[in-house]
Amino acid sequence: MSTRHFLLAGILLLLALLLSFAYAASAPDAASRRALAFATSDDSDFPKLPAPRPSDWLAVHKEPGQTFEQYVASKPLRPVKPRTVLVIQPLGSFDKDRKDLLDKASQFARIFFQLEVRTEKQLSLPAEKAASRINPFTHKPQYLSTHLLYKVLAPRLPKDAFADLGVTMSDLYPEESWNYVFGQASLTERVGVYSFIRYTPEFWDLPRTPESDVLLLRRTCKVMSHETGHMFGIAHCTAYSCNMNGSNSLPESDRQPLFLCPVCLKKLQWNIGFDVLKRYTEMHDFCAANGLKPEADWLANRIAKIKAASEPAH
Ligand SMILES: [Zn+2]
Ligand SMILES: [Zn+2]
Repeated sequence: MSTRHFLLAGILLLLALLLSFAYAASAPDAASRRALAFATSDDSDFPKLPAPRPSDWLAVHKEPGQTFEQYVASKPLRPVKPRTVLVIQPLGSFDKDRKDLLDKASQFARIFFQLEVRTEKQLSLPAEKAASRINPFTHKPQYLSTHLLYKVLAPRLPKDAFADLGVTMSDLYPEESWNYVFGQASLTERVGVYSFIRYTPEFWDLPRTPESDVLLLRRTCKVMSHETGHMFGIAHCTAYSCNMNGSNSLPESDRQPLFLCPVCLKKLQWNIGFDVLKRYTEMHDFCAANGLKPEADWLANRIAKIKAASEPAH
């Protein structure tokens, strides 16, 4: 063999080594593959969705649910460049405490979706007469959600936004004949708008307490993740008690968990491609740090099970 052949063989060997290193660095390792398989199939921590009570969502809306295969076949929106950021757009004023709440909700969204979240500078609510009214029951001002979606948010959709989520402490209504709406979204325009005001005790003339602050945070994180989940094309879940269950009222959504069931988690993970254990661990730390104790306990138990399942079989 000539020196040239030796050199060529050396170069080829080096190339093969480099390629195998690159593969090892990019392919998920066996432990995280086992963690993913377990987290998206084991349903031991998710009760089946109980039969609906008379005015619950599923008693009123006949929904068929959505399997993982149906979800993939629906070709949902995915966060691909340049649209990879979840943008939060405050609409109207937020006092210091409500700014902190928004900050926490945005931290939670970053963890839940494992994507960059950016909060834009606050925008004023529209002054046009056609964009608001005084609610005949509460006698409080309300803003027309469709006006906020199509006249305020859609025209200024940032170029890097996967979705632009308008949030407000003002009450909303979707059309004249409706009393109110918690939120509304348009998938095609990539915009949503949600009000947190009905989650606060002051809206109901109740006193503010440390417990009501935790409840407000829980509700805010829940609506933010549920509605943004729809932006990723996830339909209402009819199989388990799950963050993606439809809800007709505050008591109904208060009964629902902050977490995705294994099927909905599988959809979101397929779409975004995050590490399930990292996501759950960050979610646990967030809940533990912010007084969401039952959620932190649930997550600690779930994380321990996933870790055990990701160990190699003996
Ligand atoms: Zn929904
Ligand atoms: Zn689900």
